[in-house]
Amino acid sequence: MTHATTFAIPYADALARLSPGADPVMRPEALSREQLLEAYHPDHGADARVPLRVGANRGEPCHPALARIIEGNALIGDVDLVAVDPIATDVLVIGGGGAGTAATLAARAAGAEVILAAKLRIGDSNTVMAEGGIQAAIGEDDSLRRHFDDTMKGGHGAGFPQLVAQLVSDAPDVIRWLIGLGVNFDLADGPAPGARLMRKRAGGTTAARILSHRDFTGLEMMRVLREAVELDRGVTVLNRSPVVELLSDERGRCAGAVLYDLEHRAFRVVRAGAVVLATGGAGRLHLTGFATSNHYGATADGLALAYRMGARLRDVDSFQYHPTGIAWPPHLAGGLISEAVRSLGAKLVNGLGERFIDELAPRDVVTAAILRECAEGRGVSRDGGLGVFLDTPALLAEKPDLLTTQLISLAHLAHRAGVDPAREPLMIYPTLHYQNGGVAIDRDGTSSVPGLYCAGEVTGGIHGRNRLMGNALLDIFVFGRRAGTAAADHAGGVLPGRFGLEHVQRWQRELSHAGMIDGPRSPILYPAYGHFDLRGHMAGANQG
Ligand SMILES: Cc1cc2nc3c(=O)[nH]c(=O)nc-3n(C[C@H](O)[C@H](O)[C@H](O)COP(=O)(O)OP(=O)(O)OC[C@H]3O[C@@H](n4cnc5c(N)ncnc54)[C@H](O)[C@@H]3O)c2cc1C
Repeated sequence: MTHATTFAIPYADALARLSPGADPVMRPEALSREQLLEAYHPDHGADARVPLRVGANRGEPCHPALARIIEGNALIGDVDLVAVDPIATDVLVIGGGGAGTAATLAARAAGAEVILAAKLRIGDSNTVMAEGGIQAAIGEDDSLRRHFDDTMKGGHGAGFPQLVAQLVSDAPDVIRWLIGLGVNFDLADGPAPGARLMRKRAGGTTAARILSHRDFTGLEMMRVLREAVELDRGVTVLNRSPVVELLSDERGRCAGAVLYDLEHRAFRVVRAGAVVLATGGAGRLHLTGFATSNHYGATADGLALAYRMGARLRDVDSFQYHPTGIAWPPHLAGGLISEAVRSLGAKLVNGLGERFIDELAPRDVVTAAILRECAEGRGVSRDGGLGVFLDTPALLAEKPDLLTTQLISLAHLAHRAGVDPAREPLMIYPTLHYQNGGVAIDRDGTSSVPGLYCAGEVTGGIHGRNRLMGNALLDIFVFGRRAGTAAADHAGGVLPGRFGLEHVQRWQRELSHAGMIDGPRSPILYPAYGHFDLRGHMAGANQG
């Protein structure tokens, strides 16, 4: 998909139509939500999917660009690791975001020794960037049933009911756990003893159940989780150590992983009783040409590693394009404006000064509606940028203190954009935000490969084909904790045996039979514009 349009309304003309104080009129809708999605959402285009040609999901649909990575050749299939002394641990956690740190703490609570390997540094993740908040049905006007129904409906009925039931049932306890660790949430009644937590409504939900810390909730959570992990003497954190392959034992179980230590330009082999894969999403693949809200490490590594080991995936042709990415200025393109801004009342307005969608409809529907405005010439153009307006001046005229009380990140972002959001609307366009599908798991994060547990954005099945705001932060803690506990239990019963890369050799044979041996290598570790070449990097070490 290209985002160019033959026609858009110049910024100055569009701005003139957005008269201060006027309440923009909602244009009547001719299409059903399903028709809108079918016609305009990127998941539905003619080029949106190809069948996978090898592996456990052979014949099933996948985004074409992701398929190239999932079906990639092993990065280190030909590297000799015999001289590398293995390090042993009970549980190896791969990924230093919310799911990985939650799994680490849970595995420790279950008595396991843990190694946590992070591609960048612990905390460098999508979790730390999360803004709007986390869902939990804790209000008197709310219930687990409503949270369940909203989540199933938001995911177009494609979520796995058992996983959704687990998600919503564990939510109140997850909030208690986070508060117990030291996470601060906004309070409805000020900082009085016994104050209630402030609750906001998310798009596609029937009750106010978003709990937040201003509009930098993930930063607050990650601050606490990182400290908890780093202070635990039973955890060894290996920063700047991307996992390049998983290890298998003679019975096909996951038995650890091979890491590449970027500091020392050397491989490390970690032998583990169980592995928790928590490598997050795929935004940095810029699927379908979209800019992304994601952090630099979101390159689908976990999907490639798990798939070649035999793990089943699901819904890997379904992605979330968040409605409100920054469209202008270009250097900030794709950066996120939290849904909290719409939850607090901001409206979306096209270049004709019309509202065109319920701003709190499910995200995929709002995204499709914005893409339609832009495709049909009702978008706004500014210096090559294309989008629609997020009418912050109207919101801030009504609630002037929001920028200092709740929308702190928005104030920073607007400052970097050189826009005064009280006077000028922000220009927005959908941004690649979330991987709806991933590794298929059960309620304990168990994948179809024994010894391999998965949690967080790398998994699929919880959010169906569209995630609601606040349910990702919830998912990483619910399933991160459960996967960590289950991995620790599993590790206790594993007797050390032979381990190696037999599954990789099997995979390479399968690729060869399918005539795919000339494809790219994966995991890719960094986005294409990072120009990272593992072999070149290692050669640098040899040159001293
Ligand atoms: C800007 C933004 C705002 C968001 N706001 C919200 C919100 O308000 N509410 C909500 O519910 N959700 C929100 N989300 C989504 C949510 O934050 C994420 O889905 C969630 O935090 C993912 O957590 P995770 O632990 O699975 O992955 P991450 O937090 O991304 O962590 C993955 C970790 O794995 C590491 N890793 C990757 N590959 C490798 C490898 N090969 N070897 C070793 N380590 C590796 C990464 O470097 C990283 O440390 C937001 C996302 C973004 C990007």
